[in-house]
Amino acid sequence: MKYRCVVSIFNSVMRTRVVLGPLVLMLIFTSCAALEEAQQRREKRILEERNTTLSMLKRSNAVIEIRPDALFGESDHYTLKFADDLRAREEFDEVEERKIFTESALGYMESLYDAMNQLFGFHPEHKIHVTLHHLYRGTNLQATTRTVYRSGIQGGRYVKLINGIQMDFPIRMYEKRGVRVHELTHAFTNIYFLPVWFSEGIAVLLQTEYAKDGSHPKFDSLEEDMRIDLDGVNQLENWGGHTDNDPLTHWRYRYAYTLVAELWERYGKDFYIRVFRLMEADGLHQKLVGTMKTSFVVYYLSEVAGEDLVPFFRKLHFKVRKLTKEDILNQIEANSVRRR
Ligand SMILES: [Zn+2]
Repeated sequence: MKYRCVVSIFNSVMRTRVVLGPLVLMLIFTSCAALEEAQQRREKRILEERNTTLSMLKRSNAVIEIRPDALFGESDHYTLKFADDLRAREEFDEVEERKIFTESALGYMESLYDAMNQLFGFHPEHKIHVTLHHLYRGTNLQATTRTVYRSGIQGGRYVKLINGIQMDFPIRMYEKRGVRVHELTHAFTNIYFLPVWFSEGIAVLLQTEYAKDGSHPKFDSLEEDMRIDLDGVNQLENWGGHTDNDPLTHWRYRYAYTLVAELWERYGKDFYIRVFRLMEADGLHQKLVGTMKTSFVVYYLSEVAGEDLVPFFRKLHFKVRKLTKEDILNQIEANSVRRR
């Protein structure tokens, strides 16, 4: 099975460390217990909602509008369109068939939107445009997610301007719950221009733990299951995307998921919410050329974890260095056309 996704980057806030006296520490412990309880309640709620979402029974509160010919539907965060080759198929050649399907699909995707918002804090500004095909690019084995953006110079500086998110699914892939969740996750993460390994890791995490799809099981150990290239670099780091017939592809999905899940478990279920919030606040991912480097991601992960994660990544043979926010800003400045 092949997927192809276009991927992408991010930002942060400097932390102030304060020396705490015993009284303050006590207060913090009390609020930690309260926080933990709140966290448990939240996780329980998400789990309950997930179960209803998965069964496709739960309607989100989103408003769904379907055109009279039912070739196009729209909800709060999505549009859904039938490509010509799909509407010609027996299952979808009648208005009523398309209407029932569109209502159910938009309802499901809106429920997933709510879950993505709760789990990762994602709330893309642009609607996610989904086109369903019988065959896409001649195959029913490839779904694509693209962030449509323009890049150029604005006020002397490089900037990416996002216009929208476009997904194309052969119906056969859309019907597989795990694939649908995997691809839809990309629609939420692509706008950050993340390194492939990070974006795939999050997509497989959702595919596995949310949609309960077991295609890419987690490894037992990041160190024992590590694979390195001839330069001694972890084979995950320079993953260029879903490459056809690459013997490492399956390992990469699994290892990326194992890595992303490890940090999630270690730093709490709101870890990535805080990471993406920090990236959003800085907005630096839109000012850097190309996709985010791993060192840049590690900078954000470390900021949120409250400890330097460079040694952890180096131990796993990632070629990373410790960055400061100043280093990132200097890189952006170096790309500015104002230099003379
Ligand atoms: Zn993917």
